[in-house]
Amino acid sequence: MNYPDRFDVIVIGGGHAGTEAALASARMGCKTLLLTHNIETLGQMSCNPAIGGIGKSHLVKEIDALGGAMGLATDLAGIQFRVLNARKGPAVRATRAQADRVRYKAAIRGMLENQQNLTLFQQAAGDLIIDNDRVGGVESETGIRFFSECVVLCTGTFLGGVIHIGEDTSRGGRAGDPPSNALAERLRALPFRVARLKTGTPPRLDARSIDFSRLEEQPGDTPTPVMSYLGSREMHPRQVSCHIAHTNARTHEIILANLQRSPMYSGAIDSTGPRYCPSVEDKVNRFADKQSHQVFIEPEGLDTSELYPNGISTSLPFDVQIALVRSIEGLENAHITRPGYAIEYDFFDPRDLKHSLETRFIHNLFFAGQINGTTGYEEAGAQGLLAGLNAARRAQGLDSWYPRRDEAYLGVLVDDLISLGTQEPYRMFTSRAEYRLLLREDNADLRLTAVGRDLGLVDEPRWQAFETKREAIEQETARLKASWVQPGSPQAERLVEKIQSPLTREYNLLDLLRRPELDYADVADLVGETSADPTVAEQVQIQAKYQGYIARQQDEIDKLKRHEATRLPTSLDYERIEGLSHEIRQKLTAARPATLAQAGRISGVTPAAVSILLIHLKKKQ
Ligand code: FAD
Repeated sequence: MNYPDRFDVIVIGGGHAGTEAALASARMGCKTLLLTHNIETLGQMSCNPAIGGIGKSHLVKEIDALGGAMGLATDLAGIQFRVLNARKGPAVRATRAQADRVRYKAAIRGMLENQQNLTLFQQAAGDLIIDNDRVGGVESETGIRFFSECVVLCTGTFLGGVIHIGEDTSRGGRAGDPPSNALAERLRALPFRVARLKTGTPPRLDARSIDFSRLEEQPGDTPTPVMSYLGSREMHPRQVSCHIAHTNARTHEIILANLQRSPMYSGAIDSTGPRYCPSVEDKVNRFADKQSHQVFIEPEGLDTSELYPNGISTSLPFDVQIALVRSIEGLENAHITRPGYAIEYDFFDPRDLKHSLETRFIHNLFFAGQINGTTGYEEAGAQGLLAGLNAARRAQGLDSWYPRRDEAYLGVLVDDLISLGTQEPYRMFTSRAEYRLLLREDNADLRLTAVGRDLGLVDEPRWQAFETKREAIEQETARLKASWVQPGSPQAERLVEKIQSPLTREYNLLDLLRRPELDYADVADLVGETSADPTVAEQVQIQAKYQGYIARQQDEIDKLKRHEATRLPTSLDYERIEGLSHEIRQKLTAARPATLAQAGRISGVTPAAVSILLIHLKKKQ
């Protein structure tokens, strides 16, 4: 049958990409349908119940700055928060939250059910309705036909999913959920490049069978960090500790003795897994000289005794899983509640997408999340938001929008995928961004919320909160700049101990704040009083202290933009330009771009490479 209502945008899949896509499209005023296997699994975390971490919290904050759900859901569900790299520079600082799995899902579902313009429907999508290279809707596996302007596919690990536990294999999208085979076959018949990837998850443990007295306790930070720009500590549920255990020689012996029974080593799986999240058998085999690996014992929630042992993802047979877990100190009597497993699934080469995440071959069809070869909730959510907003813009007859690499990690993520493709599950790191001093987690709102407002993604309460904060930062910076400390004054005396010498001339408070020995708390009340809240104070301090570096990165970006029209001589020998990778030399030689701008648009030619070309041309002049 044909469903009686027509939609602007249909999103398939209610995981992290699909929920952000559907919410973004609906926020922008488009009549949106979220079609998913099971309404009970909306926002389900397939693997570890944690959000954020290095590079990833940057994406969560960008999603949040653009009005998305992940940050707020984390504040509503987070049971332990920490700031990683707290002693390092602000560019690499990252917030990580352990989430209560059930509360997280409930928070996401609550937002979906309260979103205007959004309809939920539980059904598997089995086919796409395509007419003349243009998608026009979706047909469910039971034959209901839904029509729309655009379709966003966010099917995660479900396409052709195969689950492995030792020698046992079964078909599934993740444990307990069916695979998406009909849709996988349909997509394989379209002209996209398709390949297989794999990922894995550890067995879960029953807390009642663990001896916590033999594990190291790891409490959250105090004061408790917050994930969303609209979040607060008052939103957090009760906070709990994680614990740390360690593998040992006996654990490694058990694993090595059974390696051939792991599908990854027996040849049953030959697809590539996430390099930075390897299975325990991979770690023990690859780093044979390491005597021990850490295992973080993380609670799955406040109302359950299940634990997630982060660090022992495995697809070894269940009997080996029991033995390896029980070889670990404190886990000698551990009861496994769910076995660990690996899953193989189809992904589509993201080089077949545009920056808007629309496919190159089928108009109005967008892909987001794990289907594009990425791994992680945050990477999926960020892509979902981008695909959802671009599907909405297409339905509204507007041009696509995407951030540049110097504007957002989301820009880096999409540009990397679209230009370079990926051979292994792609995850975000701060090292992937050339301009990471500009792209901090603390300033995602300053970078993106005004853009989000123009796009129609940011509602009035978020906009008001942002405007208040932006004005407070400006006012406080101006106040510090206009407040002076004279040498020999009582205020100057208060600083002597910290800066270890008397002031030799008058300074304003902003200049004092730039000194490495002083921070905001040392200077703010020296002259007058401050009423700045901590997030404003943090921003004023970071902008003051890193002003020089930030200005230099901004200069670099402006310079590249100014020189985009610079011509590249046809005789240029790219093989002889130092600093370019072999791959980039080959691509430039083959394409022979006429200008720097054209060079920068070649897939795989990074901004760093364009900068090298510019320096080379200048040297030759
Ligand atoms: P998913 O979260 O997979 O959501 C897909 C959604 O689409 C589901 O709701 C599904 O029901 C729905 N769906 C699929 N097909 C259809 C259809 N035909 N019709 C209707 N609905 C459909 N990430 C890490 O960062 N590190 C890890 O170590 C890690 N390990 C993992 C281990 C396992 C076993 C699994 C399964 C995942 C793991 N992940 C890991 C990945 C992480 O879960 C994903 O990156 C993330 O969930 C991807 O989000 P997504 O929205 O793209 O897809």
